[in-house]
Amino acid sequence: MILFKQAARLRHKLQTLLQAGGSIGFVPTMGALHQGHLSLLEAAGKENSTVVCSIFVNPTQFNDPADFEKYPVTLEKDIELLEQAGVDILFLPSIREIYPEGTQDLPTYAIGFLETILEGHYRPGHFQGVCQVMHRLLDLVNADHLYMGQKDYQQCMVVDRLLNLTGITTKLHTCSTLREADGLAMSSRNVRLSAEDRSTARLISQVLETIRNEVQPGSVKGLLQNAQQKLESAGFKVDYVALAHARTLQLIETWDGKEPLVALAAAYIGGVRLIDNMLIHSIK
Ligand code: AMP
Repeated sequence: MILFKQAARLRHKLQTLLQAGGSIGFVPTMGALHQGHLSLLEAAGKENSTVVCSIFVNPTQFNDPADFEKYPVTLEKDIELLEQAGVDILFLPSIREIYPEGTQDLPTYAIGFLETILEGHYRPGHFQGVCQVMHRLLDLVNADHLYMGQKDYQQCMVVDRLLNLTGITTKLHTCSTLREADGLAMSSRNVRLSAEDRSTARLISQVLETIRNEVQPGSVKGLLQNAQQKLESAGFKVDYVALAHARTLQLIETWDGKEPLVALAAAYIGGVRLIDNMLIHSIK
């Protein structure tokens, strides 16, 4: 694996590789890697001749500075995992390398409605930060294929919008969520959970599964309220439990039984914010 810290050197290497033919698969991450990240790298490895992974904890997407400060960093272990996974190139830039002009006065992106709901609502500015870093990284890497996790469902929709807005032709692949044995979605933030909170955390995927199993045509309000109450009784501070159209993320209160849905939740346990979602295609 070749490690690049400088954007210009990375660009030069990738240009040489592109001239030689083959395709580039790209997996952007914030490090503290787990099996979920590795599954994206595996997908990229199957479909491309060169796999590029980036590790960059992007300050502009953290609406909560404490969350940024506490974000886990496990660089040595990450490099070992990437070597084992057969990744060709690791891009490990400094903040200055990504934002040479600083982080003030960065461009903003017309992502519209997606910025006002769910994660957009509860994390103001977060998706602008995601667009800022992704625009820079996509420009630099110029990948054929981009692999991102369904775990961050709304983020995938935002990046899809960014690709449309910028005309970047990289193809986005949304990969399924890897889970721990008890159903908890793998996340870098899970290492911050105490043993007790880690055990309670499984409830998020459980309530989403209950919604998936029990949703019926008609009003979904009661179902969502029950899910929220269950989380709150277990000690969660809930930002949202919601059902939305899977294609548009329009929130729903009633369902026609046909439109594909996604159930989404975000909640804090022990000060750690966890998110998860599950797709619902039709009535079983
Ligand atoms: P992060 O390092 O949290 O920014 O995540 C980097 C990429 O890995 C994003 O596209 C995430 O959606 C994806 N990812 C995070 N957790 C999982 C998971 N449990 N399963 C699959 N992909 C994931």
